[in-house]
Amino acid sequence: MSGDKAFLTRRIYLGQSEIPQRWYNLQADLPEPLPPPIHPVTKETLRPEELEPIFPRGLIAQEVSKERWIEIPDAVRDALGLWRPTPLVRARNLEKELKTPARIYFKDESVSPPGSHKPNTAVAQAYYNKVEGIRQLTTETGAGQWGSSLALACRLFDLECTVYMVRVSYEQKPYRRTMMQLWGARVVPSPSSETQSGRHILAADPQCPGSLGIAISEAVESAVCNPECRYALGSVLNHVMLHQTVIGLEAEKQMELWGDFPDVIIGCVGGGSNFAGLAFPFIRHKVAGRPIRLVAVEPRACPTLTRGQYRYDFGDTAGQTPLLKMHTLGHSFVPPGIHAGGLRYHGMAPMVSLAVKLGWVEILALHQRECFEAARLFAATEGIIPAPETSHAIRAAVLEALRCRETGQEKCILFNLSGHGVCDLGSYEKYLTGQLDDYEYPQERIDAALAELPPVE
Ligand SMILES: *Cc1c(COP(=O)(O)O)cnc(C)c1O
Repeated sequence: MSGDKAFLTRRIYLGQSEIPQRWYNLQADLPEPLPPPIHPVTKETLRPEELEPIFPRGLIAQEVSKERWIEIPDAVRDALGLWRPTPLVRARNLEKELKTPARIYFKDESVSPPGSHKPNTAVAQAYYNKVEGIRQLTTETGAGQWGSSLALACRLFDLECTVYMVRVSYEQKPYRRTMMQLWGARVVPSPSSETQSGRHILAADPQCPGSLGIAISEAVESAVCNPECRYALGSVLNHVMLHQTVIGLEAEKQMELWGDFPDVIIGCVGGGSNFAGLAFPFIRHKVAGRPIRLVAVEPRACPTLTRGQYRYDFGDTAGQTPLLKMHTLGHSFVPPGIHAGGLRYHGMAPMVSLAVKLGWVEILALHQRECFEAARLFAATEGIIPAPETSHAIRAAVLEALRCRETGQEKCILFNLSGHGVCDLGSYEKYLTGQLDDYEYPQERIDAALAELPPVE
């Protein structure tokens, strides 16, 4: 396909009818079952129906399903059609700049209206709530990537949306807040006086800047207290990994159209969803014997996979959510203020954690400055300004391509461009003016947070 004289093929598009019809569920192909969630108080295995005050039944069923293929409802495919299928792009300018014999491809998830992969699951979650008669969704957001995705999805499915936004971000990062408001969401700075957990924190510290953990507590509380309202989570859970597999399923087809196949697949990991979305569908090929490597990349400042433990832990800071078996730095871990806000989570998706344990996924931790440097190189060659989160995947791809230059290997590298960074220019300004630092998290602090984990095996 690259032989045309007039131009070099850079992008492969699919028609809208080629939006996948089914999601791929890795649970069907696991050699051992996922450890079940555990009740935060009784410490007994959670029964799925105990989640019903928080999530709709359709999503709870997907959370525990072992069916390999799950049909995507037409209304969800229709909503995905606003921006899907997304292009698969060959980064020819970057290859040239690196003088590498490797072929570098990326799946461009930045083309969605909010600018990331997150609406892939937001529209599915909004749909399953809508068909069960729910009228309102609540969630938390840090920098606003997830909140803006859910705001759009609620708009599309005519649901009310309340987003508890970490107060410092609410004040310092107004653009995504405005995006959410344009899409009709109510954005509440957290901690707020609207919930018991918020009031409790404000009473102790009226100036509290908030945290993701506090905002989760507020969002869950307001959902549980209103029978017409449910909560939505943007990563970590099994059903979120499932919804994101549209990324890898499209990429699989696009690679085939190109007549190529990846040797290495790379994604950045916060809660694990964009990585899982691209990589999980390719595990079928790996299990069938193709020598394909999957690499999950995290920040050195929040090293969940490389320095955390595979144990049961809470999803939130307050210790109110069910316990999940996952790689974790401890729910009381407070990550430094690095600029990849979406990668600052103490835990990791149980499915990604198990895939690491099974040896299917390699892990890599990188410093933020080398990632920003790779992002600058990417913007200067391919034009797209990536999200700071995404820059971790780009740096890993660049390292891989440079290794190929040394060895002469013509590897095929595929990474997920999880989002653009047009709302993160403040971070880029800091990078350009030399105000970014690298953090190595001290082992004592990790040990201290891990020591607070609940004694559940
Ligand atoms: C939220 C986010 C991430 C991290 O979340 P995952 O669940 O690990 O994908 C990565 N990139 C972008 C652009 C994001 O918005």
